[in-house]
Amino acid sequence: MVKAPGEAGEAVEELLSRVGTEPGPAVALEPEPPDGRVAVVTGGSSGIGRATVVAFARSGTHVAFNHLDAGKESRRAAEETREMLRETGVGVFARAADVRDPKEASAFIAEARDRLGGLHVLVNNAGIGRDRALWRMTDDEWRSVIDTNLSGAFYCTRAAAPYLRDQEFGKIVNVSSVHGLSSEFGLANYCSTKAGLIGFTRSAALELGPSNVNVNAVAPGYIRTTELTDRVPAEMLDRARERSVLGRLGDPQDVASVILFLCSEASRHITGAVIPVDGGYLI
Ligand code: NDP
Repeated sequence: MVKAPGEAGEAVEELLSRVGTEPGPAVALEPEPPDGRVAVVTGGSSGIGRATVVAFARSGTHVAFNHLDAGKESRRAAEETREMLRETGVGVFARAADVRDPKEASAFIAEARDRLGGLHVLVNNAGIGRDRALWRMTDDEWRSVIDTNLSGAFYCTRAAAPYLRDQEFGKIVNVSSVHGLSSEFGLANYCSTKAGLIGFTRSAALELGPSNVNVNAVAPGYIRTTELTDRVPAEMLDRARERSVLGRLGDPQDVASVILFLCSEASRHITGAVIPVDGGYLI
């Protein structure tokens, strides 16, 4: 039976009043440890890594980051990031450490924890691209990308896992890519690592979940960073902009804010997930 306008309004009002009295979902926020939280971000000197350490620091989290130190430019970027962090007043530890080297990676994680008095969050962000058609790709182009993007994340996670398991708390975010879920020409090495990181994220989530450690991945689309502007031809960026349903490239902050969400208690029931941050590129 069709209700008269007045009756329908009353029924809706009644439903709304009932909804209003239902208890909402309780979000129990984990209390901060007295000395605050510590986040370690690999490759934190520029681009997405820099936006992430700055966002953590502005939210009151102590931060450690490493970078490769690939020359003058990269040292300058690291110094600029340190400068930005100094203004926030949180504890900061930063130095060059190559994630391709298992000993360097684990020494960096241990030192970051000792210097900042804890370890609660790990963001595996350090990454490179060496694009070429696979039939022309050299051994070095293949290996350097695998060693940095995939093995580096494994070495750092392996080093952090005992601390996180002991304290029964931790958040890990791996920076994958839309190219871990789809491909484009010349990215055989890169796509293999980013797809590998998604498998690694699920395995780590499964193994560390019983210790109350959440492990997730973000899959950014094209994000405006130095790596991107230096490496990717303009016409490819135009195509990416057109393919994104939001009609734009992302900014590093767009990725950083999702990483922060995945490291907050607001996302405590999310683990093993891959969150695209791509303006709808993959739809
Ligand atoms: P940037 O080139 O701006 O930054 C890369 C960072 O990683 C730098 O700090 C760099 O240090 C560091 N790094 C590189 N190699 C090593 C290594 N062996 N050991 C330690 N640190 C290392 O890159 P982006 O911000 O663009 O990318 C960050 C992450 O996001 C990467 O994993 C990338 O694959 C991913 N991503 C990026 C997208 C984009 O469009 N930009 C899209 C999707 C994913 P140094 O400067 O000293 O070499």
